[in-house]
Amino acid sequence: MKLLIASGNKHKVAEIKELLADSSWQVCSLADYPQVELPPEDAPTFEGNAYIKAAAAAKATGLWTLADDSGLAVDYLQGEPGVRSARYAGEDKDDDANNRKLLAAMTDCPPDERTARFVCALALVSAEGESFTANGTCEGRIGYEERGTMGFGYDPLFIMEDGTHTMAELDMAAKNEISHRAKALRQMLPVLLKLAE
Ligand code: IMP
Repeated sequence: MKLLIASGNKHKVAEIKELLADSSWQVCSLADYPQVELPPEDAPTFEGNAYIKAAAAAKATGLWTLADDSGLAVDYLQGEPGVRSARYAGEDKDDDANNRKLLAAMTDCPPDERTARFVCALALVSAEGESFTANGTCEGRIGYEERGTMGFGYDPLFIMEDGTHTMAELDMAAKNEISHRAKALRQMLPVLLKLAE
């Protein structure tokens, strides 16, 4: 059975493909369906935006479709950048500009108030509109400088619970042990395995 990942983010698609490598799903992405256009992500929640993306792509392709909506919630910034994580510094989705803006916003933040978490909501939707959701979070702290070259987005600024490594210092296999996306996907796995039977 074919599973479409409704994301244009190649890093997310690669992480999800690796997590599903042992399943019997044949995983494809929007790169295989360039005609599919996703609607604006204008819901106020991660769950709402994941559903918008999955439902639109499932309807357009007739395939079971999995969409991820994710982001960073920083306590000192009252949960920002949140659902606007991809566009925090502007509409053009620039990771470097987002990280610079985040560091600037944290300039006066005391060391013990730099707690944050990555959040992921997954929506799995069929062409007929059947739907399932799952969630995952990953706790950490915002660093003072970017470190590491792997991953994407805010990974170089996100210090994990071990207090030393940033998410960008982990390879994909190690990130997939602990990430918000991996936790949400593991929650969704029983549904995916049952549907593939
Ligand atoms: P989305 O494509 O609207 O879900 O936006 C997700 C945005 O949240 C990305 O562009 C990143 O800025 C951030 N984000 C989500 N997951 C991760 C992650 O695993 N590492 C780093 N940043 C992430």
